[in-house]
Amino acid sequence: MSDESISKSRLKQFGRVCIIDGEANPERLERHCVGGIEVTLCQRCYRELLERSAPRSSPIWTPSDDLESIGRALLAEADLLSMLAQSRWVFGHALIDRVRKEAPDDNEDGT
Ligand SMILES: [Zn+2]
Repeated sequence: MSDESISKSRLKQFGRVCIIDGEANPERLERHCVGGIEVTLCQRCYRELLERSAPRSSPIWTPSDDLESIGRALLAEADLLSMLAQSRWVFGHALIDRVRKEAPDDNEDGT
């Protein structure tokens, strides 16, 4: 396998994980268009995204005008980016905590 095909393979694999929590089981992954962004989400994260937007949904369907549609798309993107930011914050702290736990203790030699 060439380096180029390895890179393409990795890109394809990277595109097949949930962007929020890294779920990689293909049976749980779906492609969604959120606002104007096409993303891969697992079913759990997509359900959470829908729950976030539920309070803004009207129980009675009414035709929306173009500006309202754009506004709703922007809010959906904002919800997605909020979830993404939160997951990156948690992953970042988890990595830092892991590194600190694995690092040798500076005080072990009594200094
Ligand atoms: Zn997910």
